[in-house]
Amino acid sequence: MNISRIVIRHLSTMYKDSATNLASLKPIEIKTWLDSFDTVLTDCDGVIWVENEPLPLATAVINKFIENGKKLFFVTNNSTKTRSEFVAKAVELGFNVDVDNIISTAYLAAQYLKAKNFNKKVYVIGTTGITKELEAVGIRHIGIGADNLQGTLTEAVRNFNPDPDVGAVIVGFDEHFSFVKMMKAASYLNDPEVIFIGTNTDERFPRPDRVIPGTGSIVNAVTTCAERTPTVMGKPNKYICDILEQQYMINPERTLMIGDRCNTDVLLGKNCGFQTLLVETGIHNAIDVEKFSRSDDSEIKRMIPDIYCSKLGDLLDHL
Ligand SMILES: [Mg+2]
Repeated sequence: MNISRIVIRHLSTMYKDSATNLASLKPIEIKTWLDSFDTVLTDCDGVIWVENEPLPLATAVINKFIENGKKLFFVTNNSTKTRSEFVAKAVELGFNVDVDNIISTAYLAAQYLKAKNFNKKVYVIGTTGITKELEAVGIRHIGIGADNLQGTLTEAVRNFNPDPDVGAVIVGFDEHFSFVKMMKAASYLNDPEVIFIGTNTDERFPRPDRVIPGTGSIVNAVTTCAERTPTVMGKPNKYICDILEQQYMINPERTLMIGDRCNTDVLLGKNCGFQTLLVETGIHNAIDVEKFSRSDDSEIKRMIPDIYCSKLGDLLDHL
């Protein structure tokens, strides 16, 4: 398929029914495609690294994008690290990035409250990844760390004195998540004026032999007892795009979203009007995309990327 047709089809409809294999394109078509965007957003785990190991040639591709003058952002749903902590990891692995290249859900949550001139306290279910980003914008917080049932449930309920200065609840990943925290969060959220933020809704962490519940499990637990729906910061929600457009002046049509997961990364791209690239080094691959193509459900079809390739490093020869 002619690459300009791919771009035209992308711009004309968000409901493509097939993805293009990068390997099927001629070098000149790949060059035209690479010239069709000047901002690159990329997911991290499963695209540029897996845990603490960079994926083959991913470092070289990312550094080449930056060298070639593309605006580049790592976009991660992980709420356990601050932007500075992400940078430290990325630099250690050889990526030439700084804090301005990182968009994390903890950072987005802090920016969201700052934009509202929020001056009360936040009850946080989460870690220092969130609280340090709040502190960076001068927002006070309570709640992190272990908070388990002491004595009976009746006693715990009786002993809980809600802080009248709490004006928001943020729910992110928290290995100390407990019944007591759920009760406190939902009690604060009983006041409809209290802002409810979820960092992301990822169901679980992919591990071969164990299921590690993800932030979505915690957000859903609080959502159920609070009987309220949170504003979610992470992919695939469009709030990321609002921040990037306002603070970094990106043009969605000339932006590429790269990811390994169709229901977060690709869908974020579709929700924001970005071009999309799926790499097969993480969750989803060409077989999944083929399944999405056969679906009659237009929501599932929205998870089809414009282009896919086996790994990010496949781009290196074309940059
Ligand atoms: Mg990923």
